[in-house]
Amino acid sequence: MSFLESKNLRLTAQRRAIIDTVFNTEEHFTAEQLLGWSRRKDHSVSRATVYRTLPLLTQSGLVREMDFGKDSKFYDPNYADHPHHSHIICGDCEKIVEFESEKLERLECEISQRLGFSVKTQRLQITGACQTMKKLGTCKNKAC
Ligand SMILES: [Zn+2]
Ligand SMILES: [Zn+2]
Repeated sequence: MSFLESKNLRLTAQRRAIIDTVFNTEEHFTAEQLLGWSRRKDHSVSRATVYRTLPLLTQSGLVREMDFGKDSKFYDPNYADHPHHSHIICGDCEKIVEFESEKLERLECEISQRLGFSVKTQRLQITGACQTMKKLGTCKNKAC
């Protein structure tokens, strides 16, 4: 937890529960979801600590903040391992799927080179209808 030390922050039991939770999931989550999961490990985890810890995790590059234009932001714990992945999200149930595409990477390189840039980061976010939504016309609040 060297990023905490570098900020002179103590690794409290609450923070440890939050950070352990983040390191043990590959799912994209909201702050409220993280709060719920962390409380399963440690009942005393407070909403305030979750909201204070999340910016530390994003600043340290361990977690990436994603804005899909929804009410709450999502957080992605997978960028350290898969820095090039993109996302498609269901506009209704907010199911998020990751994908990687070499074609896309080539295209980004091509476009950047043509415009005289080099690629530093990329993010592609597609909003769509998941399979349940397509089949049933609804998927709200369903695990689909
Ligand atoms: Zn992701
Ligand atoms: Zn859906």
